[in-house]
This record gives sequence, C-alpha cells and structure tokens, in this order.
Amino acid sequence: MKYTFVTLFPNLIEGYFKDSILKRAIDKGVLEIEYLNPRDFSKNKHFKVDDTAVGGGAGMVMNPQPLFDALDNLKQEDEDVYIIFMTPVAKPFVQNDAKRLAKRSHIAFVSGRYEGIDERVIEKYADEVYSIGDYILTGGELASLVVCDAVSRNIEGVLGNADSLEIESFETPLLEAPSFSKPQKYEGLSVPSEYLKGNHSKIRSLKFALSEAKTKFFRPEQLIKYNCLHTIDTLSQKKKR
Ligand code: SAM
Repeated sequence: MKYTFVTLFPNLIEGYFKDSILKRAIDKGVLEIEYLNPRDFSKNKHFKVDDTAVGGGAGMVMNPQPLFDALDNLKQEDEDVYIIFMTPVAKPFVQNDAKRLAKRSHIAFVSGRYEGIDERVIEKYADEVYSIGDYILTGGELASLVVCDAVSRNIEGVLGNADSLEIESFETPLLEAPSFSKPQKYEGLSVPSEYLKGNHSKIRSLKFALSEAKTKFFRPEQLIKYNCLHTIDTLSQKKKR
C-alpha cells in the first residue's frame, strides 16, 4: 500500500512512521509513504495557499488552485489513487471502513487547515470524506494518521501476529474483554481467578460475560446491535433446520 499525505505540514506526520509497527512495515516494503505539499503548487508569488472566505465569515479557507494542481499531479502519476478528505463534515470513520480501505493500492489523505478547504476541491476530487469524531481539530494531519494507522493494521504483513485482528473490539459489536499480563498478583491486585485455572471453555464464557458488561456500560447501542444480530442469526439457523 502506498499512502500520500497531502498536507501543508508534513513534519507533523513524518515522526509517526519513525518507530514501531508501521516503521517495520515500511522497512519490509509493505507500506510506502510520500508527502505532497500544496504550497509547492501555489502560483501565488508568495506561495500563499489560503484566503478569506467568500461571503464573509471568520478565518481563512484553503484556496482551490494549489490543491487542484497538487491532486491533478497525483492523479496523473497514478490513476488508481483513492483520494480521502479528512473533515468534520462527514460520516464517522469505523472499523469496517478500515478493512475495506486496506484492499486499495494507493490512498491519498488530504488534510485541511484553517477553517477548512474550498468545497469545490472536495466536490471535484474526493472519493470519500471522513470525520474521526464529533470534535474539531486544528488540522487534518492527526485525523489522516488515525485512519492510516487503522487501515494499515488490516494489510497483510503489517502486524506480526494477524490473529490479534480477529479478537479485537469492533470485529463484532461487542467490545473486547479485559486483558491481563503477568504477574498474576501485583500490589495486592489479582487477575480473575477463572483466567488461571486453564479451563478454556470457562475462560471463554467469563470473557464473553465481561465483554457484554463492558459494552453495556460504555457503548449500550453496540450491545443492542449485537443482540439484534444474534437474534437474526438464531432465527435463520432455525429456518434452515
Ligand atoms: N471550520 C470547520 C468546521 O467547523 O467544520 C473546521 C475546520 S478545522 C479547524 C481544520 C481542518 O481540520 C479540517 O479541514 C479537517 O481537515 C481537520 N479536522 C478537524 N476536525 C476533524 C475531524 N473531527 N475529523 C476529521 N478531520 C478534522
């Protein structure tokens, strides 16, 4: 997978790929990262990339020209590039999107700054738009990294142990059960005794109960979703019989 970060501030992004799992994936050749700075495409003699909003309103908006030229250039180099704009004005990014996007060969993330990007750029070039949550960041760089990281974990060869993908939260609507590491007792706090007895069917049942309890507490809407899916599944099994 190749990622292109279209950003005025590549320095904000670069550091993330200098360590840990994604660095190893780059070293193995599974991931490739490049940066495209709209400022390098600005035809303004001072390389300006923003201006006041037409129709009034506070703050500056990113001009269309540098982004049109940067994205045309990108598409000329690779017509398969899939262009994603990060914006709070979009559907929230979820795990299923991460899995689906992991099948692409080249994704470009476009980060906005200031009050955002001229809407005509989004209309012309966006294959998809994503928000990472109901809050406002100062720019799209963090949002791009969040999506890039979540997508990358689903690309073969990125994670050391691909099994870890299967049991994670959001693979089903239930959140993951609590995890514990060694020692079994630390500062008077023990792991649940059932985890220690080696009866895997009992451990599975306990993990399931804890997983349900966590979901009910933190994300009750996910538990409703789980129960609906479970009921549908049971009914269709009965119908088959
Ligand atoms: N004026 C915009 C609004 O109210 O919708 C907010 C602009 S924000 C200060 C600047 C840039 O940060 C956006 O263009 C976008 O790229 C990014 N951004 C901010 N919050 C985001 C979020 N929740 N999800 C994705 N991108 C976000």
